[in-house]
Amino acid sequence: MFRIGIGHDTHRLVEGRPLILGGVNIPFERGAQGHSDGDALTHAIADAILGGLCEGDLGVHFPDTDSQWQDADSMQLLSRVVWLAREQGFEIGNVDANVMLERPKLRLHIDAMRENLGRVLNVEAACVSVKAKTGEGLGPIGRGEALSAQAVVLLKKSSS
Ligand SMILES: [Zn+2]
Repeated sequence: MFRIGIGHDTHRLVEGRPLILGGVNIPFERGAQGHSDGDALTHAIADAILGGLCEGDLGVHFPDTDSQWQDADSMQLLSRVVWLAREQGFEIGNVDANVMLERPKLRLHIDAMRENLGRVLNVEAACVSVKAKTGEGLGPIGRGEALSAQAVVLLKKSSS
């Protein structure tokens, strides 16, 4: 039995914040504003898993009114969501994700993101696709004011 989920996330880019994507800290003069560490890629994937489970979104499970999640490590949030899926008898099949960010270039960091995400998702990095796109100079992403991420996740019933 299979389930599919879609996730999306956007953060404003501001000075004085780290830029973290897929658990990788990327050197840049700006980072994602947000309650947690602002890892939009990891948030989009977690949202996609919750979507596949029909369990609402990240905000329901980790409310930004709860100081517990202030500057939280998003890989830990993702790990909790994977655990929730496992409790319902699901494991991750594969993930396909897009990151939309004008600068910096992400190419050199993509494989590290896939490794990190695969470890938390309990799948091979070969089952985690991360693609980097720019905004072609258009809109808030093109102007470097924001970044966003989207993800699709396939869930499959565990065989055990
Ligand atoms: Zn987010």
